[in-house]
Formats: sequence, structure tokens, C-alpha cells
Amino acid sequence: MSATRTCVACGARGSQDGLLRLQACADGGLEMVARPRAGRSAYLHRRAECVEGLVRSRLLRRSLRRDIGRDDRERVIEYLRTRIVE
Ligand SMILES: [Zn+2]
Repeated sequence: MSATRTCVACGARGSQDGLLRLQACADGGLEMVARPRAGRSAYLHRRAECVEGLVRSRLLRRSLRRDIGRDDRERVIEYLRTRIVE
């Protein structure tokens, strides 16, 4: 049985295996990691609804407790859109 995590966009819980994980980097950027490391991170469903919800909201910033630069944000969103499974 895998751990469950809460999606930052919709607030529903899901299997960790089915969620994308975002990690805040020390340099202020963002990256996607397969395995948890130290530091703030956020989980997100592989669904268009949740990815687009993240685009429009400040949830990511709140979840990671840091400002996300516009470039980083757009890069991450683009990446997330390629990982959507529906
Ligand atoms: Zn979600």
C-alpha cells in the first residue's frame, strides 16, 4: 500500500504513485522529482483540472512557502501539461 498525499490544487487525497511531485530548490527554482527529498514540496494530480487550477491560483506559492518566479512557474506548468493522464 502506498502513502497518500494531498493534491495542492483540489485538496483531495490520492495515492502518492498517482501524483506529481514538485520540489522547491535551494536556488529558488522548482523541479520535479520522483523521490522525496528534504525541503518543501507539493503534490498534484495528473489531471488537467488540477494542473489548470494551479495555473490560476496562488496555491503553489502558498504550499511551497516561497515566491515562484514567472519563468519557473511557466516552465513547470508546461511540464505538468505533458504529464497529464486522463
Ligand atoms: Zn487534484
